[in-house]
Amino acid sequence: MTIDDKLTAMVNYQLTARGITDSRVLDAMSRVKRHLFVPDEEKGFAYDDRPLFIGSGQTISQPYIVALMTEILDVKADHTILEIGTGSGYQTAILAELGREVYTIERIKALHTQAEERLTALGYKNIHYKLDDGTIGWKEHAPFDRIIVTAAAPEIPERLFSQLQVEGRMVIPVGGKIRQDLQLVIKRSNGDRKIINHGGCLFVPLIGKEGWQND
Ligand code: SAH
Repeated sequence: MTIDDKLTAMVNYQLTARGITDSRVLDAMSRVKRHLFVPDEEKGFAYDDRPLFIGSGQTISQPYIVALMTEILDVKADHTILEIGTGSGYQTAILAELGREVYTIERIKALHTQAEERLTALGYKNIHYKLDDGTIGWKEHAPFDRIIVTAAAPEIPERLFSQLQVEGRMVIPVGGKIRQDLQLVIKRSNGDRKIINHGGCLFVPLIGKEGWQND
C-alpha cells in the first residue's frame, strides 16, 4: 500500500465509518500526512488506529480522536484558535488547514522546537508558537474563537475560559490522570458555560499552574 492508500483507508475506515461527517474536517485529515509528524520507529504505524509515541514521553492521539475533537470544535475559516499542547504539531496542522490563525503553546522545548521547524518546512504561515505553560493562555492575542487542549486537565482552566470569545467553543479532556471525559465547553453571551460530554478518552496530563502540578 502506498502512503496515499493508507491515508485514504484511514479516513474511510477510522473516521467516516465511525461517524465523522464534516467534509472540511475529512478533507483536512486527508491532506495532512501523519507519518511526517512521528519518529522513524513509529512511521510504519502512522496510519494505524492507535496513539503513537512522539518523544519526551508524550503521545499523539489516534486519528479518530483528532478528527472528533476537530469536528466538535467546529472551526470556521475566519477563526483564531488557541491550542495547548503542540506536541508533534499534527493537530496544529489540521487546525491551520481549517482556521485563519493558530496560536499554539507547548511546555517541552524539544517538542516545541521540532514542531515549529516541521510545520515551517511544510509551508504553514498562519501558526504562532510559544514555549510556556499553556494553562495561563496567551492573553496578548485573546479572545480566541476556539480553544483546544490536547492534554488532560483536572478541571477547566479558568484563565483559558476567560480568554474564550463569547459564543466561542473550547474542547478539553477533563478528569483524572488515567481517564477523562472529552468536554465541549460553550461560552454563553452572559458568560455562563454549557458543557457537553463527548465520551471517555485518555490523554497525557496537562502540567502547569491550572493543570496537574507534576508528571
Ligand atoms: N496535539 C499533539 C499531541 C499532544 S500530547 C499532537 O498532535 O501531537 C500533549 C502535549 O501537551 C505534550 O506535548 C505535552 O508536553 C503538552 N503539555 C502538557 N502540559 C502542557 C502545558 N501546561 N502547556 C503546554 N503544553 C503542555
